[in-house]
Amino acid sequence: MVKVDIKYTKLFINNEWVDAVSKKTFPTINPQDETVIAQVAEGDKADIDLAVEAASKAFHRYSEWRTMDASQRGRLLLKLADLLDRDFKYLAELETLDCGKPVKQAEGEVLWSANIIRYYAGKADKILGNTIPADGEVVTFTLKEPVGVCGQILPWNYPIPMFVWKIAPALAAGCTVIVKPAEQTPLTALAVAALIKEVGFPPGVVNVIPGYGPTAGAALTNHRRVDKIAFTGSTEVGRIIMNNAAATNLKRITLELGGKSPLVVFNDADVEIAAQIAHRAAFANAGQCCVAGTRTYVQSGIYDKFIAKAAEIAKNRTVGNPYEDVQQGPQIDSDMFNKVMGYIEVGKKSGARCIAGGNRQGNVGFFIEPTVFADVKDDMKIAREEIFGPVQSILKFETFEEVVDRANDSNYGLGAGVITKDFTTAMTFAKHVRAGSVWINTYEHVAPQTPFGGFRESGIGRELGEDGILQYLENKTVTHSAILGEQDCNYERA
Ligand code: NAD
Repeated sequence: MVKVDIKYTKLFINNEWVDAVSKKTFPTINPQDETVIAQVAEGDKADIDLAVEAASKAFHRYSEWRTMDASQRGRLLLKLADLLDRDFKYLAELETLDCGKPVKQAEGEVLWSANIIRYYAGKADKILGNTIPADGEVVTFTLKEPVGVCGQILPWNYPIPMFVWKIAPALAAGCTVIVKPAEQTPLTALAVAALIKEVGFPPGVVNVIPGYGPTAGAALTNHRRVDKIAFTGSTEVGRIIMNNAAATNLKRITLELGGKSPLVVFNDADVEIAAQIAHRAAFANAGQCCVAGTRTYVQSGIYDKFIAKAAEIAKNRTVGNPYEDVQQGPQIDSDMFNKVMGYIEVGKKSGARCIAGGNRQGNVGFFIEPTVFADVKDDMKIAREEIFGPVQSILKFETFEEVVDRANDSNYGLGAGVITKDFTTAMTFAKHVRAGSVWINTYEHVAPQTPFGGFRESGIGRELGEDGILQYLENKTVTHSAILGEQDCNYERA
């Protein structure tokens, strides 16, 4: 077992490391061997109150942060990106310890996260309003201003990237933040908080409060002085957050929620390549990916060849110690392990054909064999609900019109993919499918510049790209009269 140094386990408020007011701690568990890695300070309402106080002070109009040049905000972010690059090996090892993903993958995610920070560093001094040729004798323009104090609630599947997706646009926009990492994976958020202090962000600009959802998370979403909540996680909790935001102060929300994304393979596709793309779409991050392409629709002409290939690839997928050269580590925790195994049992009983995997792997740790079901029908539970594990459902189709309707027959709308050599088929599919991201002859290509988010119950708002920073900006319209005192209430005088 690799020995990883755990340096930070306390709450991070005002650039200081502090115990929880209650002095309580909670264990974070290694999903590889089910042992306790560390006890972490457990934030609750009293700690959220302190963090909101710190973030509000840092957001005061005369604070160091609010009076800092935008280009300097960008420079601080660039420095943070460089520190992620510097420490990427350590951060990746820590990430693997806490969430079980293969360490090589974790390294890639840290470097990718650094580039996302760089993208938003470049945006900090390019936040532009508009000049507007408004009716009347006036000069009118808009100012884009930071939303304010933002609560950011993270999932456990991509702890460092999710931390960065949230803080980078917020800080570029000039907001201050309180981050609540997932209770399963608090360690890397705290390690990145240490880098934030090292960079020299003023106290209170970034605060990190580990803790549980119904306590710390709810205190954040219910706080009247929090101006916005950005959340990634389940649709169920997204609904709670939307209700809480509405019931308190109508705080702004962005929600990145679940999915059941379709990937459609047409007869003209190269079966070998298509099966590889579909495999990665379903099994990336042990299937613990909101945008996982878990409904693989395959046209009847290549169906038999495709399912044979899909089973072969899944059986050859390497699963095991994430510090070794494997493709898949354990699921995050016992709850998710049991949930996924439950779906596999439901799949077997529902009449779908299990052509690969279907079992736990080993006796220790939350490892599950890569599992492929063929002959899945649209109304089966495994084709409708988000499993969030290494399970691929393959469904047969005949015509283009039929498969577009079937792909769209979901409450979700996060991602979609199409594999074909025919340009018109690909483009027509891209136009008609109801999803926030559509990939053609590839899957899950997500870049700092490309907006990401969902239609329907997959979420509200977008992260990454230009859209990502707009979610942290308010639009203020300023109108100046060019004829003193004569342009007020112009609509009443028409
Ligand atoms: P979750 O939605 O319960 O938790 C996500 C985050 O929300 C965590 O930080 C959690 O502490 C917090 N939270 C929970 N209850 C809260 C509340 N009442 N108020 C405020 N914050 C709260 O997700 P989970 O339990 O970790 O996983 C359950 C399911 O969520 C998975 O099976 C999967 O379907 C989905 N999920 C989706 C994503 C995604 O990227 N879209 C990520 C993780 C999980």
